[in-house]
Amino acid sequence: MNCPCCQRLIYSRQPRRCGFCRAELPSELLLEPHEVDDLKNEIRDIEKRSAIDLEKEAAWEAELKSRRRRD
Ligand SMILES: [Zn+2]
Repeated sequence: MNCPCCQRLIYSRQPRRCGFCRAELPSELLLEPHEVDDLKNEIRDIEKRSAIDLEKEAAWEAELKSRRRRD
């Protein structure tokens, strides 16, 4: 595991910053590979859910507009 900024080896996952150049480390570097997979799955779930929400919202807006048109 190396710092993406100065390419030096990062010895600890605990600090959120590189000990050499103080660059902020991407969270992916601080996680175990299986944790990264979990996180990706979680993000995918959230994206899926928000896509459904957007669809519902669009349907609701269309419904509102059609109601307004009727009035
Ligand atoms: Zn660095």
